Amino acid sequence: RFIALEGGEGVGKSTQSRLLAQALRERGLEVVMTREPGGTAGAEAIRALVLGTDGEGWGARAEALLFAAARADHVERLIRPALARGAWVVCDRFLDSSRAYQGGGSGLSDADIRQLHAIGSEGLLPDLTLLFEVAPEITAARLAARDVDGSDRIGGRPADYHARVAAAFAAYAQAEPERFARIQGGGAAEEVHHTVMAALAPWL
Ligand code: C5P
Repeated sequence: RFIALEGGEGVGKSTQSRLLAQALRERGLEVVMTREPGGTAGAEAIRALVLGTDGEGWGARAEALLFAAARADHVERLIRPALARGAWVVCDRFLDSSRAYQGGGSGLSDADIRQLHAIGSEGLLPDLTLLFEVAPEITAARLAARDVDGSDRIGGRPADYHARVAAAFAAYAQAEPERFARIQGGGAAEEVHHTVMAALAPWL
């Protein structure tokens, strides 16, 4: 099974990935926990190229191509082999982040992003996408507490960019309710984890 965790920055995806992977392992399942951009040596190299670029950074199309290239390596070398041997893959961000950021945020068309995904990753989609939604005041406070130097994110994006990203995610979830579960991520980690396990119940 392939589970993706999605949402804006500071919604708790990494914490919930860890808790989910742990819970699945406790059930005796093989779990591959990974993240995007990254997950393989090549994709992590692309992550380093793209992130921490306060200021000019990359143009939207170049950025979309880089994320698609990172994903192609990740899918070919890590995700597909894991799924083929029956492991569960828990992935912190996947295609819907490209759609929400480079699409909703930066204005590229959804068709273009999906085409890049078709070429790079043969259109692979998660079985279930957990979309974490948290009020912007809460994510802002979490990020302020966590970010020391901002080297692990793309800086310089205005608040309305992040609002467009959040709205795009919500629209994708609405359009494909069978692939998405929307999770309110504002509570304590353990509480959110319970909601995640409830959403996963039909798959277990
Ligand atoms: O997942 P994480 O919050 O660590 O993401 C790292 C950075 O990459 C963030 O700044 C996020 O906004 C950005 N990103 C992006 N487009 C994607 C995936 C991540 O702009 N498709």
